[in-house]
Amino acid sequence: MAGWSGFVSNAGCVRPDPRLEAHRCPPKSTAAAVTPAAEALELGHFIGGREVAGASGRKGIVHNPATGQVRGEVAFASADETRAAIAAAEAALPAWSATPPLQRARIMFKFKALLEEHTDELARLITVEHGKVFSDARGEVIRGTEVVEFACGIPQMLKGEFSENVGTNVDSWSQRQPVGVCAGITPFNFPAMVPMWMFPVAIACGNTFILKPSEKDPSCPMRVSQLLKQAGLPDGVFNVVNGDREAVDTLLTDPRVGAISFVGSTPVAEYIYRTASTHGKRVQALGGAKNHMVVMPDADIENAASALIGAAYGSAGERCMAISVAVAVGDAADPLIDALQRQLKQLKVGSGLDDGVEMGPLVTREHRDRVSGYVDLGVQEGAKLVVDGRGLRLRGLEDGFFIGPCLFDGVEPQMRIYKEEIFGPVLCVVRVPDLATATRLVNEHEFGNGTAIFTASGEAARTFTQGVQAGMVGINVPIPVPMAFHSFGGWKRSLFGALHVHGPDGVRFYTRLKTVTSRWPNARRESAQFVMPTMK
Ligand code: NAD
Repeated sequence: MAGWSGFVSNAGCVRPDPRLEAHRCPPKSTAAAVTPAAEALELGHFIGGREVAGASGRKGIVHNPATGQVRGEVAFASADETRAAIAAAEAALPAWSATPPLQRARIMFKFKALLEEHTDELARLITVEHGKVFSDARGEVIRGTEVVEFACGIPQMLKGEFSENVGTNVDSWSQRQPVGVCAGITPFNFPAMVPMWMFPVAIACGNTFILKPSEKDPSCPMRVSQLLKQAGLPDGVFNVVNGDREAVDTLLTDPRVGAISFVGSTPVAEYIYRTASTHGKRVQALGGAKNHMVVMPDADIENAASALIGAAYGSAGERCMAISVAVAVGDAADPLIDALQRQLKQLKVGSGLDDGVEMGPLVTREHRDRVSGYVDLGVQEGAKLVVDGRGLRLRGLEDGFFIGPCLFDGVEPQMRIYKEEIFGPVLCVVRVPDLATATRLVNEHEFGNGTAIFTASGEAARTFTQGVQAGMVGINVPIPVPMAFHSFGGWKRSLFGALHVHGPDGVRFYTRLKTVTSRWPNARRESAQFVMPTMK
């Protein structure tokens, strides 16, 4: 991966907060160093309703992680190209924000139908650039489409509130108006769903939008921009600039951009939040995670193990809601480790396009090596590696970015493999004596995205749910991702900003509240009032 975004220094070397340092590191490979295949991709940007070639001369390489082959190149936008996208979004804003919400919703309906028609095509683009298995990629597209479905109801969400006679013959109402030009900066791990957490709600609320997707798997968002145009969205309402920090910094600092939504790693989220807030924008910046699943001794251990396998190793652990820590309470630990080991022997790793495969490769070679480096580190730190997926080589896919599932027992809270987000198929089991210790463990971790408890006790579930510090909680549900009509977001260093994404919080984020107080006095003369009006 070219340039700043290749956030690993050397294979197997792990260092804290590498992503913010990465743009200062020399690139491991450059676009010029790789010769793409004859039919290679060449992605530019989508600005003002049309695809435009990149003009900066800077590019990134897009791989197929299952084969390790180069798919092609994606342009990295300059500040000027990014400003052109902002100008297109600004030009489209007056007409779009004045378009009645019902008409905006009708375009969303058409877009939803197109997404349904093209689900498999989009899922395939995700699998060949991200690596996750095709069925999981389909699930991602469908979960994104559900946000579009939510946005189809925008006239209802924008109705506002009305109070008659707040004073004698005085009425008052609150209305929500678009913020203006909004931008979204999104991670590699959900190239369809995470952008769709943002732009359908933003656009339905009457804003215009610029998306800066991940440079690692940009084909899906580019295809989505064509579908939006096909649905009848006016030119300039939705734009895509591909690129790196130059594009991001332009979006964060340009005064014409009113709101920034970000999803990605915590060091970058914090940087985005600080920079964009300093420049007067509203910001929601979702960061990293280390999600714990507490397994109580009264849980059905075999089912809890199955849930853990899906939640820890699905999408090769590259999910912000993946479970990366199992907290085994009391007697749950030994049978849980046994069941996990047994079930892991059955897990099928391979190309995400092949039938029956349950776990694909990691997104890049550098990321695979970084995850493998964390496994080395866990061994050095004294955790017990009971399943070792390092060095996995698959016949015919020898150059793919694979690592097999890894399972650590005896992990302690002071270890770096416990504290840091690994973002790979590595599950850490921590043994604790009771629920109070388990809850304290979750609460003392710096991240607070999601968490879960598996138990047969309503009392334990309620105590945990009330006391735990995390934005999303599952009770016998390992990955409690809220539906589109609720909102998604974490606590602590998993979210910078006040509002979660999509659902009601999404509408709040992408609109400004205006409260009107109105009276229609008779024509008779009125004297000036020098005191705060109060009700008598
Ligand atoms: P990342 O932070 O490296 O990149 C996210 C986006 O920021 C990309 O578009 C990237 O181009 C850009 N970016 C990266 N470094 C930058 C910098 N220094 N300055 C400006 N922009 C920069 O994240 P990623 O590796 O693409 O995605 C994985 C991370 O995202 C994980 O930490 C995961 O937990 C997190 N994530 C969180 C959620 C959530 O809801 N909280 C959801 C999905 C992913």
